[in-house]
Amino acid sequence: MTDSNSTFSTDLLTWYAHNKRSMPWRSDRPNPYHVWISEIMLQQTQVAAVKPYFRRWITEFPHVGALAEADQEEVLKLWEGLGYYSRARNLHKAAIMVMRDFGGVMPNTLTDLRKLPGVGAYTAGAIGSIAFGLDVPVVDGNVKRVLARVFEIDTAINTPAGEKEIWALAETLVPAGQAGDYNQALMDLGATVCRPKNPMCLLCPVKDSCQAQAQGLQQQLPVKKKKKPVPHYDVAAAVITHAGKILLAQRPQDKLLGGMWEFPGGKLEAGETMEVALAREIQEELAMEIAVGEHLITVGHAYTHFKITLAAYACTWLAGAPQAIECADWKWVTIAQLGDYPMGKVDRTIAAMLQSQAD
Ligand code: SF4
Repeated sequence: MTDSNSTFSTDLLTWYAHNKRSMPWRSDRPNPYHVWISEIMLQQTQVAAVKPYFRRWITEFPHVGALAEADQEEVLKLWEGLGYYSRARNLHKAAIMVMRDFGGVMPNTLTDLRKLPGVGAYTAGAIGSIAFGLDVPVVDGNVKRVLARVFEIDTAINTPAGEKEIWALAETLVPAGQAGDYNQALMDLGATVCRPKNPMCLLCPVKDSCQAQAQGLQQQLPVKKKKKPVPHYDVAAAVITHAGKILLAQRPQDKLLGGMWEFPGGKLEAGETMEVALAREIQEELAMEIAVGEHLITVGHAYTHFKITLAAYACTWLAGAPQAIECADWKWVTIAQLGDYPMGKVDRTIAAMLQSQAD
C-alpha cells in the first residue's frame, strides 16, 4: 500500500470509529447469519427500508435452521414489499444448503460463500470481511462512487472495464486485519458524506486524499455510461369472482416475482384491446373462458428493466375448469384471505382496493 493510500484508509477508519451508523445487524461481535441477511436485504434497497424487515425476519427466523425449515410462501410473505423477490427465494435455498452441506454453520471462506445462491462477489466480500475478518474488499455503488472521486477514475463505473479497475484498486486499499470496519466505513461514507449529488466535501474525513475535491471534479465523477431507456408495457389483470371467492394464480418459480400470487392476466399484444387481451391470457394461462366486465383500477409500476401500466377488470367465469397451464398453481380465496398470500406491489394495491370496498 502506498503512503497516500494508507492515509486514506487510516483517516477513514478514524472517522468510522466516531461516526458509524447504528444498525440492528452491527455489533462488536457480528453474527454471520445476521450479516448475511442484512447484506442480501441491502442489495438495491435503502438502509431505512431494510431495518424493520430485518427485525421482523430475525424474530421469525432467528437462525439459519429456522429459515431452512420454513415454507417458501412464509419467506416470501415476510419479504413482501422489499422487492427483488429472487433474493428471498435464494436466501431460503441457501439456508437449506447451509444445513445440508455445511452442517448448519455459515461458511467462512469466499469460495464457500460464493456457493450459496444469491451470494456474488460483493456479498461474499461483505460477509467474509465483516463476519469472519477476511482481508477482502467490497465494491458496491457507494464504494465505486467514493473511489472514482478520491482516485480520479474516469472509466465509466457501470461498464466491465470500470468494474475491473475499481476492484483492482479496492484490493490494494484494504488495511490488514481491519477489512470489516474499513469496508463498512467506505459504505457509510458513500451513503452519508460522499453522496451522489452535493457531496459534503468540507466535512469529509478523506478530503486531503481526494483528487475530485482538489480539482473540483465532484460533479463530473463518477463517469457513468447512459443506460438504454426501459420499455413500457400495457398489462391487463382479471379479478375473477365466483361464489363469493376470487381467483388467484401463482407465478412460475423461474419468472419475475416467482412464487408470488397475482390476479391473472398478461401483456397486450399489438392491436388488442384490454378486454380481448385479458380473455386470451386467461384462456392461455388457466384454460378458462371469462366475461370481462367493469374497469376497477389502473396501476403503474417500474421494475428494473421495464415499466408497466396495469388495468384490472372485474370478470366472471363462463366455462372451463381452471388448470395451471402457464402458472404454478391457482386458488379461489375470500377477500379476507387476500392478505395471507405474498404479492408484488401492483397486485397488493388491487387486493387492498378490493378489501377497502368490502369493508
Ligand atoms: Fe467525496 Fe468530497 Fe470526500 Fe472527495 S472530498 S470523497 S468528493 S465527499
